[in-house]
Amino acid sequence: MPKIDSVDFFYLSMPEIQDIGDGSQDALLVRISAGSEIGWGECEASPLVSIASLVCPMSHSACKPVIQSVINQPLNGIEDIRSIHRTVRENSLDLLQADHTLSGIDIALWDLLGKLHGEPVYRLLGYPSAYPKLPYASVLFGDSEQETYQKARRISQAGFRAAKFGWGPFGRGSVQDDRSQVMAAREGLGKDHILLIDAGTIWGDDIQAASDRIQVLQECHVTWLEEPFYNGALSAYLHLASLSKDVQLAGGEGSHNEYQAQHMIDYGHVGYIQIDSGRIGGLTSAKRVADYAHKKGVTYVNHTFTSHLALSASIQPYAGLEKDFLCEYPVELKPLAYELSLEHLIPDHDGYIRLPEKPGLGITPDLDGIKKYLVDVDILVNGKRLYQTPILK
Ligand SMILES: [Mg+2]
Repeated sequence: MPKIDSVDFFYLSMPEIQDIGDGSQDALLVRISAGSEIGWGECEASPLVSIASLVCPMSHSACKPVIQSVINQPLNGIEDIRSIHRTVRENSLDLLQADHTLSGIDIALWDLLGKLHGEPVYRLLGYPSAYPKLPYASVLFGDSEQETYQKARRISQAGFRAAKFGWGPFGRGSVQDDRSQVMAAREGLGKDHILLIDAGTIWGDDIQAASDRIQVLQECHVTWLEEPFYNGALSAYLHLASLSKDVQLAGGEGSHNEYQAQHMIDYGHVGYIQIDSGRIGGLTSAKRVADYAHKKGVTYVNHTFTSHLALSASIQPYAGLEKDFLCEYPVELKPLAYELSLEHLIPDHDGYIRLPEKPGLGITPDLDGIKKYLVDVDILVNGKRLYQTPILK
């Protein structure tokens, strides 16, 4: 009977971290073993803080280190993953990083269970088949409108039929500056492509600042405006949703559990709910959101700005929803994030990407390739070693 023998976290980082909205500059890779099988996952959060939450000393009964709820637990079926998920949330209720840490662990558990059962994860999640997804090239705005235009041209020439521009200077200057940026993106991309805009929470909860940009988004036929406000600024979302006409709101990547995502749907009136499996509590939570969104007629989209391991993990929860066909696809990954895996989800001749049919997530970390990015961490408390970077291979 398989039980969880080890839980290892590997902190990977580019040599230099830049102060830009690019989440692919470091990574926290999770390895879980049960018997002879290994599962892999990835947490989408500050690696060192997540490592701390894995091993920190107990503060009280609802603030325990995450590893305590995982190690030595049985792993025979889906119910065991759900049980671990529940136990982590109970035992680490007041440990605020726990949802992030749980996310990578939960992903690795599904990968592991898929390998134990010889099934791709989407099938374990209840989908008979995985539909192809249309990748949208996800990039940062250029520092100038010319740079944005050139990026859009390159994306279009590379064969992508959809693109998202976000962060960078957008929302930081005047309404006119943003107008020029959005128009440059549309012009470079061509009129038939899907264009999405990501404000990266730049307006906080300032409804006026956001609504001032709606007109140009409409003129440029932008499909969605993403994260105009902080995740959870529900009344601001609700108000803007009533003003934004045919530009729908998108959000939810900042959700740390399924309830926050449900609130974005019910009370923020987003038309697209964007979920990062590496943040929300893994595939267990993400699938619950996908089911809920489907019931409510809201479109589910993955949020992924890191490796192809994370990409596979983020697509699995809505793999079987045919009409939710868009998929975030990072195209400006740092070498670390691209080199993290041996396999990559490359668009097929028809421009769509398809999940691997191999057991688990179908993505294998490149242990030789990532060695050079491994950060050496040693955590001592009162002379007792709580964590030391494990041996990768
Ligand atoms: Mg975003």
